[in-house]
Amino acid sequence: MARTALVTGGSRGIGAAISVALKNAGYQVAANYAGNDEAAQKFTAETGIKTYKWSVADYDACVAGIGQVEADLGPVDVLVNNAGITRDAMFHRMTLQQWRDVIDTNLNGAFNMTHPLWSGMRDRKFGRIITISSINGQKGQMGQANYSASKAGDIGFTKALAQEGARAGITVNVICPGYIGTDMVMAVPEKVRESIVAQIPVGRLGEPDEIARCVVFLASDEAGFITGSTLTANGGQYIV
Ligand code: NDP
Repeated sequence: MARTALVTGGSRGIGAAISVALKNAGYQVAANYAGNDEAAQKFTAETGIKTYKWSVADYDACVAGIGQVEADLGPVDVLVNNAGITRDAMFHRMTLQQWRDVIDTNLNGAFNMTHPLWSGMRDRKFGRIITISSINGQKGQMGQANYSASKAGDIGFTKALAQEGARAGITVNVICPGYIGTDMVMAVPEKVRESIVAQIPVGRLGEPDEIARCVVFLASDEAGFITGSTLTANGGQYIV
C-alpha cells in the first residue's frame, strides 16, 4: 500500500513542489496550510492533492489536524516540516511578537507536528521526519535573529531526535535551502534580491523542485542509512 506523507505549508512555494513530487513518487499526500484558502483551493484543483487548514503553531490544532489526515489517508509515514514564516527586523527594532511568531511557527511548529506522530512511527517501526531549515539557520543573517534562531533550532532538534529514532526505524533529517524563488523571497525588494543572487556562486536562485527532489530522496527506502544529517542545497553560497 502507498505510504502517506503530510507536508506542512504544502500548498504554496517549496511545500507545494514537495507535495507534488511526493505524489508523483507514489505517496498519498496531505498538504497542510495556515490561512490562504484561495491558494489552497487552486492547488487542490490543479494537483488533486487534498489540503488541510490549521496552524502548526497550535499544538491542539496539530493533534486534531493529524487525526483528520489519518482518518482520511491512514497513518502518516512521512512528515515534512516545511511551514515557515519570516518577520524580519534589526534586533534593536524587533518586537517580542515578531520573535514569538517566528519561533512558534518555525521551531515550535516542528515539535507540535512531530510529537503527536512520534509514538505511532515508533510502534510501526518506520518513519521519516524531514524538516526544512535554512542557510540562515546555519550562518545567521542580520535582520533575522528570530528566523536564524528558529532554523538553527530545527537543526539541533533533528540531530537529537535522529538518535532517539534510529532503533525504531525512524530517520530524521534536515534540509537547508539557500535562496529559492518563492513568494517569501520575491517579497524582498528587487535591489536586495539582486545583491543576494550576486552572492550565489551558481548565479541564480534555486527552484522549489530542487528542494523537493532532496525530500523525495530522504523519504525513500534507499535513504534508510541517512539520519541526523543536514543536507545543504544553496548553490554554493555557504559551504559547511
Ligand atoms: P512561502 O511563504 O512561499 O509558503 C509558506 C507556506 O507555509 C504556506 O503554505 C503557508 O500557508 C505555510 N504556513 C505559514 N505559517 C504556517 C502555519 N502557522 N501553519 C501552517 N502553515 C503555515 O514559503 P517558502 O515556500 O519560501 O518556504 C517554505 C519553507 O522553506 C519555510 O520553512 C522557509 O523558511 C524555508 N526556506 C525558504 C527559503 C526560500 O528562499 N524561499 C530559503 C530557505 C528556507 P498559507 O499558504 O496558508 O499562507
